Amino acid sequence: MKAGKEPLLGAIEAGGTKFVLAVGTAPDNTAARHVIPTQMPSETLAEAEAWFRAQGSIAALGIASFGPIDIDRASRTWGHITTTPKSGWSECDIAGFFAARFAVPVGFDTDVNGAAWAEVRFGAGRGVSSLAYVTVGTGIGGGLVIDGEPIHGASHPEMGHIFVRRGPSDDDFAGHCPIHGDCLEGLASGPAIIARWGSPLSDLPQDHPAHALVSGYLAHLCYDIFAITAAEVVVLGGGVLRTPGLLQRVREQATALASGYLPGGARHRVEAAGLGEDAGITGALMLAERALARGD
Ligand code: ZN
Repeated sequence: MKAGKEPLLGAIEAGGTKFVLAVGTAPDNTAARHVIPTQMPSETLAEAEAWFRAQGSIAALGIASFGPIDIDRASRTWGHITTTPKSGWSECDIAGFFAARFAVPVGFDTDVNGAAWAEVRFGAGRGVSSLAYVTVGTGIGGGLVIDGEPIHGASHPEMGHIFVRRGPSDDDFAGHCPIHGDCLEGLASGPAIIARWGSPLSDLPQDHPAHALVSGYLAHLCYDIFAITAAEVVVLGGGVLRTPGLLQRVREQATALASGYLPGGARHRVEAAGLGEDAGITGALMLAERALARGD
């Protein structure tokens, strides 16, 4: 194939507040990028379609989406966002919308599985084959790559709605999850922190007890991921992780929890995203690349 004639990959990182759109000839070779706000599906999907048409002819599309989503290719509702509380998006056939309009292979996975996959290939996980990507922001969600492949089982990994041991003096907060109360998301997500202390973690003084509590809960998640999956790296991203010092606190507490017990020892690492904010869209481009290779 002649240089400059490589097929153009299209990619969408579909988030609850914004859609990141990109085209490129490879996951690490982006030609153009565009961000649109997430409104109702009819507006946002049409706006995305128009942008892709203006970029030229795409040969495949990858979508890394907020969830929960249906990633079972054999399912009647493959490619749908399923039961999100986000207004208008429940049961939205996001992959089908683009498959019908562009008639190209479409790859589809969660935003965090895409981000985990991209971090293994280009980011904090280069040189390892197993990595979890956890975002801590409006909610908490995680993706998992094992042996170089994003994990799918009955559906996709979840990770936010797990239960962690409460801190010894932490018994006066019921938790902020509408489903479980004090699951991890109910204790350590951005809205949970605001509901409890009235401001984001980054605005609280460094000696405020919130820092130790939140980092402790996230350290439990990291330790559990290491213990259950043997993943080498947990990448932590999302708005809450912009809090100065938080990543280091989580690292230290995860190491303390492990107490030298895990057989993986120092091979287990807690890292910031090597790709920064680009992990999700890079993963979406990888999904397009694979969809094209497979003809999905
Ligand atoms: Zn929950």
